[in-house]
Amino acid sequence: MSTPQDAQPASAENPPQPTEKSAAWFKAASDVIPGGVNSPVRAFASVGGTPRFVGEAAGSQLTDVDGNTYVDLVSSWGPMIHGHAHPEIVDAVQQAAAKGLSFGTPTAGEVELAQEIVARAPVEQVRLVNSGTEATMSAVRLARGFTGRTKVVKFAGNYHGHVDALLAEAGSGVATFGLPGSPGVTGASAHDTIVVPYNDIEAVRGAFAESGGEIACVILEAAAGNMGTVPPLPGFNQALRELTAGHGALLIHDEVMTGFRASRAGWWGIEGVTPDLATFGKVMSGGLPAAAFGGRSDIMAKLAPAGPVYQAGTLSGNPVAVAAGLKSLQLADTGAYTQLQSNADRLERLISDALTREGVAHRIQRAGTMLSPFFTDNPVTNFDEAKAAESFRFAPFFHALLAGGVFAPPSAFETWFVSTALTDDDFQKIADALVPAAKAAAAATPN
Ligand SMILES: *Cc1c(COP(=O)(O)O)cnc(C)c1O
Repeated sequence: MSTPQDAQPASAENPPQPTEKSAAWFKAASDVIPGGVNSPVRAFASVGGTPRFVGEAAGSQLTDVDGNTYVDLVSSWGPMIHGHAHPEIVDAVQQAAAKGLSFGTPTAGEVELAQEIVARAPVEQVRLVNSGTEATMSAVRLARGFTGRTKVVKFAGNYHGHVDALLAEAGSGVATFGLPGSPGVTGASAHDTIVVPYNDIEAVRGAFAESGGEIACVILEAAAGNMGTVPPLPGFNQALRELTAGHGALLIHDEVMTGFRASRAGWWGIEGVTPDLATFGKVMSGGLPAAAFGGRSDIMAKLAPAGPVYQAGTLSGNPVAVAAGLKSLQLADTGAYTQLQSNADRLERLISDALTREGVAHRIQRAGTMLSPFFTDNPVTNFDEAKAAESFRFAPFFHALLAGGVFAPPSAFETWFVSTALTDDDFQKIADALVPAAKAAAAATPN
């Protein structure tokens, strides 16, 4: 794989960034952590260069261990909608921590977080878990337990965490690294997964025609964000709703990314198609490990201890994580979403204007406040179309942004995440960095 270097043409205004400390930590990390990271997309593998080790962050700014600062357009891959170290969230966490870190017996905060989720999203009950992966894994198990069926329909380029049955043709890191699937996932596990192209309702009809009586559920990102941002075509989610209902299968909306991000009520708040089960994470965690799945109370009633489908967690509903999540959702009021939307609009315009000036073919796709640029003239409605874009332009584009102090997702197949903390100065820095970035994208050649 070619590895574009970090080095940018240095100039008086744009001195080269020191990266010695990040490089040293990455080397040390690689000795004791596989690939030097605890989640693959952090490794800069598809863009080359040295992943930046962050020392601290506040508001919209990340500061790395070499002292460079970056406007953050990754937001921890979604959770940090209020920016970093928001004083009220930090305060809520400190207060909770001072009262004890984990008890293994219920707390009031868990009820309040569950109430907040139920008040916003189309779910009657929720179970709190520790990661989005755990949420989707548990939702699929529940769907199988509820229906007594085994097969799961998923969509190419959709990512639901690293659940065995859901890794086939997954988005996010699996897409970034071009992996066909994953060794370690058994044939039996893959056998029960039917993968169909996203936004292709006829393919789903075909799957139901063939195996309707065996399909426990259809799971999909309510709006896809893990192959870049690829919203559902008009009517697609509604058609899935009718198809699943007609065949006695459950519809699971994975809102781990879109939930409380795309809008106040996630993608459901935009489109209004109600699933049987939904999964949440990222924003509702406030940046600590917390996630949830929920849905119709007759289905959730099958979950232990109310019912026979087992699901549990030593740290589930952890009081510190719950405090961070609850405060984040409480702060995520109408004003916050207006701000997020306008920040996303502003970022979209800046990227588009810069690429247009350099004559680079592009589309900026949106799903509520989520966005991502694709280097193509054509609409991107599925994984094949996402892969057909000129992704070779991404690494130089990314590195020029980074050199200009802007941290974008280090992959062509990821959504960009704005926070409410972005300032006019940040947007100026983004606009300035986009000038060389667009030139670098224009100059890029396929390798
Ligand atoms: C991030 C993500 C997950 C996995 O969540 P983790 O907390 O990383 O396990 C699942 N589904 C979607 C749609 C996601 O974006």
